[in-house]
Amino acid sequence: MLVIGGGITGTGVALDAASRGMTVGLVERDDFASGTSGRSSRMIHGGIRYLAQHQYGVVLESLRERAVLRRLAPHLARPVPMYVPTPDARSRLELRLGLYVYDALAFGRNVGRDAAVSAEELHRAIPGFDHPTAGLKYFECRTDDARLTLEVARTARSFGAWVANHAAVDALTGEGRVTGAVVTDVLSGERFDVRARAVVNAAGVWADRVQAMASQSPRRLRPSKGVHLVFAPGAVRTHAAMTLRSGAGDGRYVFVVPWEDRVYAGTTDTNYEGDLDHPTVTAEDRDYLLAGVRQAFPLVTADDVVASWAGLRPLLGDRDGPTADLSRRHAIYESPPGLFTITGGKLTAYRAMAEEMMDRVGRSLGVRRGSRTRHISLGLSAPLDEALHGAVAAAEPLHLDEAIARRMVYRFGDDWRAALDLLRDDPSLASPAVAGLPVVKAELVLARAREMAMTAEDVAVRRTRLTTLDERARLRSDRGASGSSI
Ligand SMILES: Cc1cc2nc3c(=O)[nH]c(=O)nc-3n(C[C@H](O)[C@H](O)[C@H](O)COP(=O)(O)OP(=O)(O)OC[C@H]3O[C@@H](n4cnc5c(N)ncnc54)[C@H](O)[C@@H]3O)c2cc1C
Repeated sequence: MLVIGGGITGTGVALDAASRGMTVGLVERDDFASGTSGRSSRMIHGGIRYLAQHQYGVVLESLRERAVLRRLAPHLARPVPMYVPTPDARSRLELRLGLYVYDALAFGRNVGRDAAVSAEELHRAIPGFDHPTAGLKYFECRTDDARLTLEVARTARSFGAWVANHAAVDALTGEGRVTGAVVTDVLSGERFDVRARAVVNAAGVWADRVQAMASQSPRRLRPSKGVHLVFAPGAVRTHAAMTLRSGAGDGRYVFVVPWEDRVYAGTTDTNYEGDLDHPTVTAEDRDYLLAGVRQAFPLVTADDVVASWAGLRPLLGDRDGPTADLSRRHAIYESPPGLFTITGGKLTAYRAMAEEMMDRVGRSLGVRRGSRTRHISLGLSAPLDEALHGAVAAAEPLHLDEAIARRMVYRFGDDWRAALDLLRDDPSLASPAVAGLPVVKAELVLARAREMAMTAEDVAVRRTRLTTLDERARLRSDRGASGSSI
């Protein structure tokens, strides 16, 4: 089987198929998670806001998958309290009722206990909040979307899948039935013919284009753009994530989330007709988010923004109207025979989507084995606490900072030992990759050795997330300043 697309959906499908014992190849034309899967809000969440849209199926599936991911990758699905200021009793009651339903749908798989919070507690959690009111607290999980995708790709590889980044599908082959693809190695220019009994199109917002290589079919996707802004350390003073009403009076919310030593805020949801390869953050997008953030932190300005990213949701849309109202469900279809397309959905639900897809492909190919992914850990097989204690204990004789030891667990899971070995052999690798940022040089080494990074951009953008901490990091690191060579 051949999978097209190395986002969370494609890597999830490759893992599901390989762990069923199938022979699988996956090709990604750029880098793993270079599309939407590296540009999300980084939340593993049930999607409380979809309750208001009565998308109960999406919420149920997401809550179930959130619990599965916490078990399979506890280092990549970390609980985070979300504070919601509620200025009046009515909004507090409405939210309380919403959370009641949300918790009920989780069937006991909640991340933490919801609670009413006083203005004092809100102030302690969010010291920079200008006018703290009472509110509510509930829990979600935060992830590193690109690293989660990478870990799924690596796990697929460990089950024998052949996964390649920088390998693009230029054409599909076969008469009447799709039987393979022409693939170009983007870095060398070499071309290959790949034969497959089934081809899976997991190309995200590009899925219609891949589909068009095989047949003339109607456009199914309506991409919607979402942007995030990253603020300099100290500009938005909060220890916890929070949800604020957008400043536009459109009934939408803006998330403010701590990340490393800074904070990001998102997101927008606007219809997108532009270049799929290069969505940008416009002044309008920036002002929309700034207006939301300023509701709580009035002194924040555009000068505090140090990085940003824009991503495109592969939404299924057959009608007009705001993209925010479109369903977050996914769709799977076979057309023409041999080409299976999977689009829509959410990062959180990728595993269930992949299982459903492979059940369908399996039926078509006569493969009877069921999915095993519910029990396959993603890079960390030991309990998280055990790994953290082990890493901190092993770091002590090396005179390594505890924070770095813990960081190696969150970044590399079971491979924290390999990371500490590197640091023992060359202690200079514990210094910052770029001055002033928390990424250490050992991460640059492991990006290439462990994580299939092929280019400087793979390292800076997806493996280390340097450029989402500070946009200028790419320029500095490409020039080789700060002693780093990415
Ligand atoms: C702003 C925003 C915030 C979001 N926040 C969340 C969130 O917090 N939680 C959540 O659960 N979900 C979230 N989502 C949704 C989630 O990010 C997406 O549903 C998911 O990442 C889609 O993954 P994908 O693999 O289908 O697509 P992609 O990640 O885009 O992967 C498709 C891949 O196919 C590759 N490709 C395209 N054409 C070819 C070709 N010809 N040959 C080879 N490869 C090809 C592309 O390069 C790309 O890497 C968010 C989405 C957005 C836009």
